[in-house]
Amino acid sequence: MNFEITAEQRELRREVAELARRFQPRIDEWEAKSIAPRELFEELGRRRWMGPIVPPQYDGMGKGAMEYCIISEELARFGLFGPQPTIQAEKHLLASGSEEQKQSYLPMLARGEGIAAIAISEPMVGSSFELMETTALKREGGYVLNGRKSHINFAADAAIILLYAKSERGLSIFIVERGTPGIRFEKGDPIGQRMQPIYDFTLEDVRIPQNQLLGEEGDGMSTFFASFNLSRIGNASCLIGLARGALEEAIDYAKQRRVGGNLVTDFQGIRWMVAELVTRIEAATLLRDKAAWLEDRGVEHALETAMARYYAAEVAEEACSQVFSLVGGWGCRRERPFERFWRDAKVGKLAGGSSEVLKNLIARRVLGKEGAPLS
Ligand SMILES: Cc1cc2nc3c(=O)[nH]c(=O)nc-3n(C[C@H](O)[C@H](O)[C@H](O)COP(=O)(O)OP(=O)(O)OC[C@H]3O[C@@H](n4cnc5c(N)ncnc54)[C@H](O)[C@@H]3O)c2cc1C
Repeated sequence: MNFEITAEQRELRREVAELARRFQPRIDEWEAKSIAPRELFEELGRRRWMGPIVPPQYDGMGKGAMEYCIISEELARFGLFGPQPTIQAEKHLLASGSEEQKQSYLPMLARGEGIAAIAISEPMVGSSFELMETTALKREGGYVLNGRKSHINFAADAAIILLYAKSERGLSIFIVERGTPGIRFEKGDPIGQRMQPIYDFTLEDVRIPQNQLLGEEGDGMSTFFASFNLSRIGNASCLIGLARGALEEAIDYAKQRRVGGNLVTDFQGIRWMVAELVTRIEAATLLRDKAAWLEDRGVEHALETAMARYYAAEVAEEACSQVFSLVGGWGCRRERPFERFWRDAKVGKLAGGSSEVLKNLIARRVLGKEGAPLS
């Protein structure tokens, strides 16, 4: 067993942290307007960090899930977000895209020249997306899409949306290019992770050419299953980054803050709390690392990924809430990042699979399907 990351990965971590520190002063502006951090994406793209899993022949880094984790975690540690849907889209394209689709979209995404959105959720269909109501009807030369999508990160900003819809043969995925007629966007106003703007949108007779179908018609579920583990590992990494970032900031403050004759970090209650939090963050990191390791080896790992994502969300919410005890009144001030970490952790816990749904998946692996006969 080897718990060490490589020297190259350590260097990547250092470089991402350095870049994130440089962009930190822009966070308030992006947050206030809830806009995508274009300049950050361009810089990530220049370094090919928008395409950690994309092979070099499509202008990516040609690395794996661990590099994706490092990039996501270090950005979130400094309060930055954004590449996740693009990297999820790359995974979709690599899993099911035709050579023509890979060549058309992967270099653009990996170079940060455009970003992607993934549109699954609908107003009436969240966790149970197999009941999807958006339809794709086969017509001469392609498909016609109708329906509504909700809470979609970057939908109106994206160069491409990978859109899930029901067609005659089942769940299918379509590559919808920016500017396609018939789509009306409405911007949301989320409480956290605001630099990943969310949109609801309607599709009215949206025409998609046949070559924009991703994979085979009706194969949407298999593409989803080939891709969603990586996206959960990425989400877990953001949550771990938030927990680490909040705790580090709080410790920096508490180590200097005197209360009477003591530093805040002299109180045993505080010391035990910090000990518990660092232990949990480490445990979440190990779960995430194992899931990433399995992903990179192509081993089935839905269970490990669900555990990693579930636990990271619990730890992030707990850490970002408990650090308020270290920082007193400053926790309530927008001038300090604590309230932002807290909002971001809350949103990160909901997006991309709720804890309840993840626990269902874990329990099913242990106990079998609900209502199954006892054996
Ligand atoms: C900030 C943000 C960004 C998002 N970005 C995207 C995106 O880019 N693309 C996209 O497609 N979607 C996106 N989503 C949608 C997200 O994936 C859904 O919110 C999520 O799947 C849950 O769906 P829902 O909100 O409709 O909850 P519902 O499915 O309506 O569930 C409501 C509650 O019931 C619980 N629940 C559901 N089923 C069970 C069960 N069997 N047992 C116990 N409890 C259960 C859930 O945990 C939840 O708490 C985003 C959401 C948020 C908040």
